[in-house]
Amino acid sequence: MGLIVQKYGGTSVRDMERIRQVARRVGAAREAGHDVIVVVSAMAGETNKLVGWALELTDLPDEREYDLLLSSGERITSALLAIALQTLGHPAQSFTGRQAGIITDFAHGRARIARITGERIREALGQGKVAVVAGFQGISEKSDVSTLGRGGSDTSAVALAAAFQAGLCEIFTDVDGVYTTDPNIVPEARKLDRISYEEMLELASLGAKVLQTRSVELAKKYNVPLMVRSSFNENPGTLVTKEESQMEDVVVAGIAYNKDEAKISVLGIPDRPGVAKRIFRTLADARILVDMIIQNIGKDGLADLTFTVSKEDRPRAAKIMEQLKEDLGIQEIQVDENIVKVAIVGVGMRSHTGVAAQMFETLADAGINIEMISTSEIKVSCVIDAKYFELAVRELHRAFQLEKEQAYHEKKTPLKS
Ligand code: ASP
Ligand code: MG
Repeated sequence: MGLIVQKYGGTSVRDMERIRQVARRVGAAREAGHDVIVVVSAMAGETNKLVGWALELTDLPDEREYDLLLSSGERITSALLAIALQTLGHPAQSFTGRQAGIITDFAHGRARIARITGERIREALGQGKVAVVAGFQGISEKSDVSTLGRGGSDTSAVALAAAFQAGLCEIFTDVDGVYTTDPNIVPEARKLDRISYEEMLELASLGAKVLQTRSVELAKKYNVPLMVRSSFNENPGTLVTKEESQMEDVVVAGIAYNKDEAKISVLGIPDRPGVAKRIFRTLADARILVDMIIQNIGKDGLADLTFTVSKEDRPRAAKIMEQLKEDLGIQEIQVDENIVKVAIVGVGMRSHTGVAAQMFETLADAGINIEMISTSEIKVSCVIDAKYFELAVRELHRAFQLEKEQAYHEKKTPLKS
């Protein structure tokens, strides 16, 4: 029996009853013969409460102080879980990010883990203890507390699993696993048994909140198998793992959406070299992340350019465009917040044709106009009017028959024989 890492999210540790439950579950893994490293989130709502306090004092809290503040939620739950484990007779010790030896860069609020020294965890495991680590945090080379971005406890868990070469990283949450789409929108949505890192990355970056995107990148890089499952029942969950050849039999694994983007259209810009450079360089320098970009073919020396940014960055992006307007000779700028990006994701797209056509046909049949399209090897995304988004997700789910069990093991017909 090897080492496993278990991570428990906010709802799984939201009160003492839940913490006791988690302690029982961790204890059972230990009794089954595993060495266990547990990573915990803050209690549900706790981090938001801390954020709220800081924002009551100022719009722009100092980054160093803000990180120390936010890291405290996870410290509370790590200590409480260690106490709960000890009470059940399981030797346990809690560790802050610093004590666990999680060394990060200096980017407060979105730090990246540079390395994990982990001496004290090793020592605790050597003494037969459960190591309980406060998630979402580390320490910079200057000894300041850093945090890993919202949802960062997932990344703490995967990084520890990689550093300690754990056989499995279990992510315990309040849903049974990864679904074909949001079950709140499509009640027939089905839980997936397995999904590839690539697909999970696309779903996570589109806003499927089960896993922090960065944690999936890390899991892929170090080939850490992830099991996403519920801490509220014994159901088996969804295994996120490296791509297997049968996964390509399933054309579309899931449908994701992102309601958090706004569209900015720049109409009538001079069609000459350097204009796009100027626009996107200025946005990049302002640390604004641009997602989709389309430009039409120039006509009469003028072109139109449309791009999307997060709703949060929209005011700043629009202001920058207004500032560039005169300089670049832009005729008109339009901003639209009433959009949603809907995407189909699946590694099977690499080997199947007609997938995009099927998506467009489905949207057309539902009378939904497509405003922007972008594709990658395993994804097709469309921007549509926000008011149609639930309809779009439902119709696509039906068109690609995602409610049906299309298990890889059932459908063994090879594409090329
Ligand atoms: N507590 C942090 C958050 O709410 C980190 C986490 O839960 O993963 O974002
Ligand atoms: Mg989370």
